[in-house]
Formats: sequence, C-alpha cells, structure tokens
Amino acid sequence: MEILKVENLTKTYGKGDNEVVAIENLNFTVEKGEFVAIVGPSGSGKSTLLHLIGGVDKPTSGKVFIEGVDIYGLKEKQLSILRRRKVGFVFQSYNLIPVLTAEENILMPLLLDNRKQDKNYIDELLEILSLKDRRNHLPSQLSGGQQQRVSIGRALSNKPAVILADEPTGNLDSKNSKEVLELMRYSAQKYNQTLILITHDMNIASQANRVISIIDGKIFADEVVRK
Ligand code: ADP
Ligand code: ADP
Repeated sequence: MEILKVENLTKTYGKGDNEVVAIENLNFTVEKGEFVAIVGPSGSGKSTLLHLIGGVDKPTSGKVFIEGVDIYGLKEKQLSILRRRKVGFVFQSYNLIPVLTAEENILMPLLLDNRKQDKNYIDELLEILSLKDRRNHLPSQLSGGQQQRVSIGRALSNKPAVILADEPTGNLDSKNSKEVLELMRYSAQKYNQTLILITHDMNIASQANRVISIIDGKIFADEVVRK
C-alpha cells in the first residue's frame, strides 16, 4: 500500500538574486512499512524535503499525499490534525520541553490532541526506551541518549503511520546511535510504520531498505537495497 506520494515537489526560498531552489521537481512514492534513508551533502535539500513531507512547511509548487490525502490541499486546522495523528518527528536536537518531565514530553502529542492515553502502550514505550526509572526526570537531568529516547517516545506515542527523523543520531556516540535506530526500527516493524530518516552515517543508511540520494535539490539515485 502506498503511504506517501511526492508529486512535482519544488521549494524555493527568497526572491530575485537571493532565490535558492532547495528542492526541484521531486517525484517518488513510498510504500507502507518501508525504511527509507535520505542521504546527500549538506545544503542539498534533505531537511526541506522532510519538512514538506511532514506538513510543517509549504511547497512552492507540487503536492504531497499521505494515505492518498493531498495534505497541502487541506485547511490549516485539518493539516495540523493530520500532522499530529499521522506523523511523528524526531530531530537531531531533541526539541524537548525543558519544564516537562520525560513522561510528560512523551504524552504531549496526545494532550494536544485531546486523546485518551493508552496507559499500557505508554508503559510499554517507557519500557522499550529504557526510561521507566527516568519518567519523572526533566530533560536537563538526562543524558543525550536518554533525551533522544524521550523524543522518540514523543514521536511514537500517537502511533503515527510515518516516522520522520532528521539526523536523529547526529549528536550521539555510536553505541547510542545504534540503540536509537534499533528502537525506531522495532516500533516501525511492530506497528507497520514507515520510517524515513536523514543521515550522514553510512552505517545507518546501509540498514535501510531504500536509499534516496539528494544532490542540489534533485534525486541523484534511488536504490532499493533489500526488501
Ligand atoms: P540539507 O538538509 O540537505 O542540509 P536544507 O534543506 O536545510 O538542506 O537546505 C537546502 C537549501 O535551502 C540550502 O541552500 C539552505 O541554505 C536553503 N534553506 C533552507 N532553509 C531555508 C530557509 N528557511 N530560508 C532560506 N534558505 C533556506
Ligand atoms: P541540518 O544541516 O542539520 O539539516 P540546517 O542548517 O540545514 O540543518 O537547517 C536547520 C534549520 O534552519 C532548518 O529548519 C532550516 O529551515 C533553517 N535554515 C537552513 N538554512 C537556512 C538559511 N539559509 N536561512 C534561514 N534558515 C535556514
């Protein structure tokens, strides 16, 4: 089943002499359950693409479909609902709320959406993220690896169809990187989620079943590694 479709997608920043074409006329589809790594040099448009896929930026032209829905054809309110229900974001810099505990950060998407928490699932999440004894700690009381695990918990707490991660292991040592990747893959496999991540780390890209290389805002290569 097709979960994501990108159609003639273009994003430019600035005007006139300052115009930057960040991504140019991209076309591809992603099937449910795929693990896609997006690679390419710095400034090639990877983050821009991920933001457009996740509904957090507006394309200059072209369309993004999630489960067949033309997301930029939606009204702002509907788009933010779709984003909260279908997409989980993980960032390099964690982006946790400093005054909330680990558990509260993880519950944030559900609170925003006024949804009942599945207590068992949240406990399971804390368990697999090895955060049970850290649930009441603030981000400042946690290591980098733990903070990133909290941010993964936040991305997963609403059981999104798509997990989008922008250099999720960029600030972590190799042991924590490996763990963080395993956690996202575990969830993706268990809940048939699609995982799309940007990485510079070839050890991580090599584990994806598809690698899309972006250069100068265009797809340079799109290779299915294994199924
Ligand atoms: P990558 O993630 O591959 O490093 P980005 O998507 O961040 O690439 O950036 C692609 C290009 O778009 C770069 O030239 C960058 O400077 C430019 N860019 C990204 N975001 C903005 C922005 N908000 N305003 C202006 N230019 C931007
Ligand atoms: P990374 O290389 O880790 O992806 P970037 O520096 O490309 O990080 O982008 C970080 C954030 O800064 C992005 O959200 C992007 O929108 C913004 N950004 C990137 N380049 C520019 C730019 N030239 N002008 C304004 N904002 C930018």
